[in-house]
Amino acid sequence: MGEGKYGEIKGPYLQRSIKQRIEAFFLANIGKIVTREQIIEVAKDPQTAREPENWHQRLSELRTDDGYTILSWRNRGDLKISEYLMPSPAKRPKVGRRVQIQPPTWQLVLKRANYRCEWNEGGVVCGLREGDIDPIGGGTVRLSPDHKTPHALNPDVDPGDPEKWQALCGRHQVMKKNYWDDNTGWLNVYAIVQAASEQEKRAVYEFLRTYFGD
Ligand SMILES: [Zn+2]
Repeated sequence: MGEGKYGEIKGPYLQRSIKQRIEAFFLANIGKIVTREQIIEVAKDPQTAREPENWHQRLSELRTDDGYTILSWRNRGDLKISEYLMPSPAKRPKVGRRVQIQPPTWQLVLKRANYRCEWNEGGVVCGLREGDIDPIGGGTVRLSPDHKTPHALNPDVDPGDPEKWQALCGRHQVMKKNYWDDNTGWLNVYAIVQAASEQEKRAVYEFLRTYFGD
């Protein structure tokens, strides 16, 4: 491969899911700049060549669920808008062990939720129903349990208490975990630092001490 600064599609990417195809593309271009257009090309269904609308959500999941570092212009001054870069194939270790809801509790939550997504944004409830087509994210809605308080703050959350849980659609699961504030387009710095390892927190702490001259 050349030593160019920009990545190449190479491929073909025949992985079954959009996320897997995007992941394989990034892993084949470690340290190289890739563009939005390339990602969309790779994300296309290999059979139908249909362009997915939800590629950006899948990219978010690679960051938040899989723990990959994918940089954009928001994190690196030398990247332009619509350019992305995966500096290394390393994944962040998972933060803690997920508390599982008990199946009967999940049934109670679903019943309370009227089998709809309970995401509430300033009084507007998402309301997507299991099996609906998500008009924004695309794809079929699957509701899954989310416990309202972050694990780190409340590791002893009762897996049998329906009040501690809510039903969320896939898009809102991602949004909750997302480190990006979709409303402002800015990094949710506080959430990132909270989820960071002890070592990374220490580095941030040292940086801020120096920054503020303490
Ligand atoms: Zn929702």
